[in-house]
Amino acid sequence: MKLLLLGPPGAGKGTQAKLLMDKLKIPQISTGDILREAIKKTTPLGKKAKEFMDRGALVPDNIMVDLINERLKNQDVKDGYILDGFPRTIQQAEELGNIANLEHVIQLKVPDKDLINRLSGRRTCEKCGEAFHVELNRPKRDGVCDKCNGKLMQRADDNVDVIKKRLEAYHLQTDPLVGYYQKRKKVIEIDGTGNPKEIFRSILRSINQQADS
Ligand code: AMP
Repeated sequence: MKLLLLGPPGAGKGTQAKLLMDKLKIPQISTGDILREAIKKTTPLGKKAKEFMDRGALVPDNIMVDLINERLKNQDVKDGYILDGFPRTIQQAEELGNIANLEHVIQLKVPDKDLINRLSGRRTCEKCGEAFHVELNRPKRDGVCDKCNGKLMQRADDNVDVIKKRLEAYHLQTDPLVGYYQKRKKVIEIDGTGNPKEIFRSILRSINQQADS
């Protein structure tokens, strides 16, 4: 099954992708994670991407399309995958359409006012990627991952100024994808506020319903 999780930064795409990955046994492809890894290793891709990511702008389409083309050549995607963070522009969606046919596009809807709080308090495990929040989802021990005891980090772009830029980029460049995929009858709208497990259950229910219809 080929799924896309679509929604603004902080909507819970990463959290839902991980739950779906465990359930459906297909990999999550997070372009943000791939880019952050490249930055950590200071590869040429990482150096280029950092300029854009630091200011909350999107990395240019040609770079992202090359990246996803490479990633989708890997054997682990043969039974499907969960896209998290790609495509983010109409051009990326069109390029993806040339190489893959998505079954479902899950649109996670969360109002902007919640997103700034979610993102600025977000902490992520540097080892396993599990997400926490300083108020809404506190780890048992401050700064330590409940799952693997890894260190919790704050993402460089999770500060209020950059968050506002990322939300602007989302509304301008990524929001149009909702209409793009609605025309193709792929979109499942999901209320992304509330309990992550409940949201996950409603995603699974909708996928099954859409598959039956
Ligand atoms: P994310 O982890 O998905 O929030 O992505 C973090 C940052 O990586 C974004 O703010 C962009 O700068 C960059 N990025 C990730 N995916 C894409 C994409 N598909 N197109 C352009 N930039 C991207």
